[in-house]
Amino acid sequence: MNAPSIAARAITFRDSTLSLPVRKIVCLGRNYADHAREMKAPVPSTPVLFLKPSTAVIFDGGTVIRPSFSKEMQFEAEMVLAIGRGGSKIPEESARDHVAGYGVGIDMTLRDVQAEAKKAGLPWAVAKGFDTSGPLSTFVLSEEVANPNQLSLTLSVNGEIRQNANTCSMIFPTEQIVSFVSSIFTLEEGDLIFTGTPEGVGTAHPGDLLTASLESVGSVTVKVAG
Ligand code: MG
Repeated sequence: MNAPSIAARAITFRDSTLSLPVRKIVCLGRNYADHAREMKAPVPSTPVLFLKPSTAVIFDGGTVIRPSFSKEMQFEAEMVLAIGRGGSKIPEESARDHVAGYGVGIDMTLRDVQAEAKKAGLPWAVAKGFDTSGPLSTFVLSEEVANPNQLSLTLSVNGEIRQNANTCSMIFPTEQIVSFVSSIFTLEEGDLIFTGTPEGVGTAHPGDLLTASLESVGSVTVKVAG
């Protein structure tokens, strides 16, 4: 068993005693135009949403395990929002007051399984929600982040940078994301939002070390099972 227990699946915050058990995980697809283009997908006019189960979460030092039915697992580095104060239909003006903090995660994706699902018009749950598909860093409190829409975001494989972007390129910035997501799903303390990945996604091979970093926030490093 690689997935942490419910108690162990709480996110923690740097320089703080705050800890929040992970609840639902909402993810945005295609929130960077250059990534939509590399996936040969249209740039969306409203956010594309999908969910991961909380059991997908692993932390720094963990191991990502590709299920045997997939041959193509890819990494997607993303800024992750931790909801501190719940709400429904949250206005953009107060959206950031609902964010307890910011972290960085990797939206591990079974690209072959997702491609089959897209072709058949089926959900992405398996491709996106398998055990270990959600590596997460430690978070930092909101007040320590001056502008979440202006942070450099990178992913390296065995020390070589493969994704290198800035959250300023997000199609939907933090405030719009929180407001939109809360108009569909009531947000609760401990919910997480993966905010989408920039271009440069690629295959995670057995034995690879994946490190996602978000400027002043921090980083998460996981190993791909051999
Ligand atoms: Mg993603």
